Amino acid sequence: MTARPAEAHGSASPGATAAASPGAPAAAPRGATVAPEGRPRVLGPVVDDQTRCVHYRTELDVVAMRFFCCGEYYPCHLCHAQAAGHAASQWPLDRRDERAVLCGVCGSELTIDEYLGAADCPRCEAPFNPGCALHTHLYFEL
Ligand SMILES: [Zn+2]
Ligand SMILES: [Zn+2]
Ligand SMILES: [Zn+2]
Repeated sequence: MTARPAEAHGSASPGATAAASPGAPAAAPRGATVAPEGRPRVLGPVVDDQTRCVHYRTELDVVAMRFFCCGEYYPCHLCHAQAAGHAASQWPLDRRDERAVLCGVCGSELTIDEYLGAADCPRCEAPFNPGCALHTHLYFEL
C-alpha cells in the first residue's frame, strides 16, 4: 500500500515564474461558484479556490474584483464580460474605501485603496500579479 500524501496547501513557491500554460483548457468549467466558509461568493468561470479563472490562472492571479455595477465578485474583467450579462462600470474615485478586492489566498477583502498601493496582500503577503496594474482602469475610475 502506498499512501499518497494529500497535496500540501499554502506552500507558496517563491520566485516561481508561472506562465500560463499554453495548452488549451481541456474541459471548460461551467460557471462554478466558489464560496468557502465565510468568503463572499465569486461568480464566473473560476478554476480553483484561490479565484483563478480560465483567463488568468498563474501563480500570482489570486485576487477577485467586486464590480461596482452589480456588487458581485468576479475573478477578472473577462469573466464579468462573459457571465454578468451587462457592461461593467468602474468604482468612482470617491469610493476607494470600499472593500472590493478579494485575496483568494486568505479570503481577506481589501479596500480599493489598500489594493492599489499593494504589491502583495497586506494580510497574508501573497504576491499579487503586477500585470494587473495594466487593467486598473477596467475596475476603478482613475
Ligand atoms: Zn457587473
Ligand atoms: Zn477571468
Ligand atoms: Zn491574502
